[in-house]
Amino acid sequence: SARFLSCMANSNYQFDHVCSFFTSWQIFPTFAFKRNTSMEQTHLNIIQQLDFDDVIKTITKLDGYGSVNFNIKLGNNESYIVKFYDRCEKPIIDAEVEIISAISDLVHFNLPKALGPMYQGLDLKDQFVRVSAFVQGDTLTPVTLTDENIHEFTMAAATMVGLLAKLDNVVIQAHQHSWNLRDALMVKPMIDMIKDASDRKLVQYFMSVFEYDVKPVFDRLPHSIIHGDLNEANIIIRDGKFEGFIDFGDISYCPRVCELAILLTYMMMLRPDNAWATARKVMEAWQKILPLHEDEVKRIPSLIATRLCVSVCHSAAKKQSNEATDYILISEKPAWDMLRNWASYNPVFLENSFLSFAGFAPKTISDIHTVIERRKKVAAPSLSLSYDAPIHMSSSLFQYMFDTTGGTYLDAYNNIPHVGHCHPRITEAAWRQMRLLNTNTRYVYDIYAQYVERLLSHFPDTLDKALLVNSGSEASDLASRIARTVTGRDGMIVMEWGYHGNTQNGINVSSYKFDRKGGKGARPDTLVLPLPKAYKGRHATVEAYVAEAKSLIDDFEAKGNTIAAFITEPISGCGGQVPLMDRYLSLLVPYLRAKGILVIIDEVQTGFGRLGQWFWGFEMHGILPDMVVLGKPIANGHPMGAVITKNEITSAFNNGMEFFSSFGGNPVSCMIGKTVLDIINDEGLQQNAHQVGQYWLDQLRALSEQFPSLGDVRGSGLFIGVECIDDHGCENTSLAQHIKNRLKDRYIFASTDGPLDNVLKMKPPLCFSKDNVDHFVRNMEEILMDNN
Ligand code: PMP
Repeated sequence: SARFLSCMANSNYQFDHVCSFFTSWQIFPTFAFKRNTSMEQTHLNIIQQLDFDDVIKTITKLDGYGSVNFNIKLGNNESYIVKFYDRCEKPIIDAEVEIISAISDLVHFNLPKALGPMYQGLDLKDQFVRVSAFVQGDTLTPVTLTDENIHEFTMAAATMVGLLAKLDNVVIQAHQHSWNLRDALMVKPMIDMIKDASDRKLVQYFMSVFEYDVKPVFDRLPHSIIHGDLNEANIIIRDGKFEGFIDFGDISYCPRVCELAILLTYMMMLRPDNAWATARKVMEAWQKILPLHEDEVKRIPSLIATRLCVSVCHSAAKKQSNEATDYILISEKPAWDMLRNWASYNPVFLENSFLSFAGFAPKTISDIHTVIERRKKVAAPSLSLSYDAPIHMSSSLFQYMFDTTGGTYLDAYNNIPHVGHCHPRITEAAWRQMRLLNTNTRYVYDIYAQYVERLLSHFPDTLDKALLVNSGSEASDLASRIARTVTGRDGMIVMEWGYHGNTQNGINVSSYKFDRKGGKGARPDTLVLPLPKAYKGRHATVEAYVAEAKSLIDDFEAKGNTIAAFITEPISGCGGQVPLMDRYLSLLVPYLRAKGILVIIDEVQTGFGRLGQWFWGFEMHGILPDMVVLGKPIANGHPMGAVITKNEITSAFNNGMEFFSSFGGNPVSCMIGKTVLDIINDEGLQQNAHQVGQYWLDQLRALSEQFPSLGDVRGSGLFIGVECIDDHGCENTSLAQHIKNRLKDRYIFASTDGPLDNVLKMKPPLCFSKDNVDHFVRNMEEILMDNN
């Protein structure tokens, strides 16, 4: 039944019309005329006057967009399709009729051939009527999508394109419509109609790939007229065998490979569990009849994604105009599912798969050893590479990273691409601003204040000033400098295993650096406080930690030191994802304040909603810092950092020495920073971090019940640590390394940290999903099982 509609309806709305069958009505000529509108009455009158071979037995109205459609059954059981179109469609419909009739006698399968003019009356006014043969049979279903049928109809499609390529029709060439992949950019205005921002980013991304990487090469690909919509509703199966194609309403002139890409899209969508075997069959059959060049085959993955984008954009537009029905909502889902999957496939894998299905050699990859050697020659040896077998990256998208061999890594580790790797809105924002203006803060431009206001709106009112710099290191360095200038003191209090940056001053306040390999320990003006750990710490209570801290500070001062500031992370990242013990800061901070010691909180790892329940880590401790250091996620990978502080502090810092950073606060950085905040808000990423993080913690805690070698599971939102321990409950570095390395073998990134590197550490982009968590936990469980 569905195919009546697809055959009938204005093909620009191919997904929309199948539903209309359910609202169609069937009438019998004898009583048909009683309950119809005048236009329907006119249509029925005309149908009655059509010159059929036998009497009309039934007329079934089939709703459609752009045309009014009927299925006519005659006494002799012959069936016809009658369509009434708007007059302005005449040239393209005539062209379609001409094309079908030009090829239908040359092919071995059926096509909806038009019957010559059967009605010449005048009472149609602005419309015209077309009658065509009804291709008997049923539409393709997952059941009839047999290997044999795939072979038959794909070869038929290739044969058809071979014939269509020889035809020349200026009307079709000039006809623009958004279902023609050549004109796919016509859907761009519809992208904003996609309600869910996380869905929208997929379309924004794939449409940008089409626009910048694929559309520009269209001119060099062989063009042809194509059917343009070989979906399952337009492929007819009769008695289990391929019968013919219907619905040429999307007839297009474009690169011929588009016909194959569209066919592949729908066949892979129809058989989601067996999509790749299906794609291979389609490709092999096509290449037998109309071998495509390598350059054409390489475009297929992007053309498939583009077709899916066009489809979901039309669905969104229908929803927006309230024309969507249950059917659209159901048929839309497989398209979104496939698009989501497409985002997780490595582009190298996609290209190589289609190349190999088509009989071409896969893309050759450069030898990683050569690349490493080349890098080693010019890089400082202190620059390290992760893993014994380093990974040669080629691209990334959202929570996935792609290597040059075609592998997809699930990224549960990188917190810098906070809103997702290569987020299309970030790329677009950066590009637009770079085209417009990039300069420094000595000039006035709107985006500076706009961004800083937005950033400060996430802080308590007392934190009302921001200084923009280029990295977390520069921010922590500047915060120390401000503290020293404002207080006129030199000393610093730092946290055991804290890390704050790579500048000299950053290293000076980073116990993680000066207390480890290559470090010289704390400088005389620096006091290190023990990390207040709830799990296996040196003290059982927070009071004991606070008392110890106070006495250390008193001693330090008694030795003649003056203290400018205390710097700490709210959850110690390098310390092994250790949240500072509950109430530690709220008890210690008043004591520091009383001594005029400024409190600097480093939110480089914890900020911007990662913790789920809190936007900033200091909120979980119920304190108000004097300064906050920001970095990493602030601009999703664009180098940027910031110090957030108070008016009284920036005023005191203003001692005549100018603060200037050549790049800090430039318009491009501000625009990117603002876009990060927009995306966190629009995609509900803080809530996602909360929900997915809680789910992950629950799963990991369940796993730690099963495996005693997993000790404390801790963290908040998408900032999680799992302590690996041995039979005696001691730190088990080798197990943590083992899990990390085996996860990497299974294409999952996690990291390890802590003084003994025994804490498994997860801090993925905030778009990480529950499915990603399931995948992660399943793999971790298998690794632990194998290790038992
Ligand atoms: N503070 C913390 C807590 C960090 O984790 C880092 C980087 N790992 C920094 C500061 C320094 O930031 P950047 O590397 O951007 O200079």
